[in-house]
Amino acid sequence: MSRFLSSRYRDLEAYTPGEQPTDMQYIKLNTNESPYPPSAAVLEAVNAEEVSRLNLYSDPTCKKLKAALASLYGKKSENIFVSSGSDDILNFSFMAFCEGSKRPVRFPEISYGFYSVYAELHGVDYTAVPLSEDFSINVEDYCHNDATVVIANPNAPTGIALTLAEVEKIVTSNPDQLVLIDEAYVDFGGESATVLTDKYDNLLVVATFSKSRSLAGARLGFAIANEQIIADLEKIKYSTNPYSINRLTLLAGEAAVRDNGYYMDNCKKIIEMREYTQKALRELGFYTTDSKANFIFAKSEQIGGEELYLALKQRGILVRHFTKEKIKDFNRITVGTRDQMDALLEAIREILGRK
Ligand code: PMP
Repeated sequence: MSRFLSSRYRDLEAYTPGEQPTDMQYIKLNTNESPYPPSAAVLEAVNAEEVSRLNLYSDPTCKKLKAALASLYGKKSENIFVSSGSDDILNFSFMAFCEGSKRPVRFPEISYGFYSVYAELHGVDYTAVPLSEDFSINVEDYCHNDATVVIANPNAPTGIALTLAEVEKIVTSNPDQLVLIDEAYVDFGGESATVLTDKYDNLLVVATFSKSRSLAGARLGFAIANEQIIADLEKIKYSTNPYSINRLTLLAGEAAVRDNGYYMDNCKKIIEMREYTQKALRELGFYTTDSKANFIFAKSEQIGGEELYLALKQRGILVRHFTKEKIKDFNRITVGTRDQMDALLEAIREILGRK
C-alpha cells in the first residue's frame, strides 16, 4: 500500500477471483465459464475489418445491442442497460441504490463474494443474512425490509434457486426498496424475473453474457428494469466510463443475441451433464445441493474440501474451493463437456481409491 491511498480504502479487502493459471493446461472447472465456444455468428461479427476500426470509439448508447436484447426479452430499449460484465452493473447498482446507513443492503451470507466487497467499497452498511441449514434462502428474511435487497438467483455457490413466486413475494413485500436479482446463472434451469419488470418499479434484474452465452472473456453484462432505474444506472455509467463496452464486444453481444438458439441448446447440454455428474458424485458418497446452475456444489463424506481441491489440481483439474468456515468442506465444480466430466469423475475415483 502506498502512502497516497485514500483512507477510505485502506482496510478494503478486494474480491479474490478464481484462478486463471498460465503455467499449464488445466481442465478448468473453477470459474463457471461455458465449455462451448461463441457461435459462428460471433466469430463472423468480430472480424479483421472491425478490428481495423478500433481507432474509433464505441457507441456509448449501445443502441443496436440494447435493441436486440429488448426484442429477445419483449421489452423496450429504455428498459435495458448494458456494461462491461455484470460485475460492472452490480458495482453501479451499489453506488446508485445503496447509501451508508440511510439505505443499507441485505444479501445472503453465503452468496457471490463481491456483494460485501461493493458494500465496503461504497461505505454501505450491510447485513449478510445466514442461509437455512440446507443452504436454501429463507424468503421471509427478505420480506418487509428497510434495505436494498440483493439476491443471486440461482444462488452461488450453492446453485439453489428461488421460484418466480418467491421472488415476486420479496418484490411485493418491499414496495419502497429496490430488489436486485442477479441472474448470472438463470439460463441453466432457474425462472427469470425479467417477466416482472413491467409490473414492479422496484425490481432490477442483472444478467451476464459470461456463462450461458460463452462470452466471459468479452466482458458483457445487461440489466432489465423500469425506465427510471435504467436511467439511474446510465447516469452512473456516464459519470465513470461511457465507452465501457468496446466495439468488438458490442458486435459479439449483438450476434450472440441473434444466435440465442445455439446458446440455449448448449444450456440444455450443460443441464444434462450436471445431472449426469451429480448422480455419479452421489454414488461416490458425495452430498450435492439441488443445483439449477452450471456448477455443482459438492461435499465428500471421505475427503475434506481443500484436500480434494488440491488433489484434483495436482491431476490438472481446477475446481473452486472457498475457505469460508460454513462451506469449507465443499467444492464448486463447473459443469463442462462429457469428456471433462468423465475426466473429473475418473480423477475423483482415483483420489478416493474407488477404482
Ligand atoms: N454474479 C454472480 C452470481 C457471479 O457468479 C458472477 C461471476 N463470477 C458475476 C455476477 C459476474 O459475472 P460477469 O462480471 O462476468 O458478468
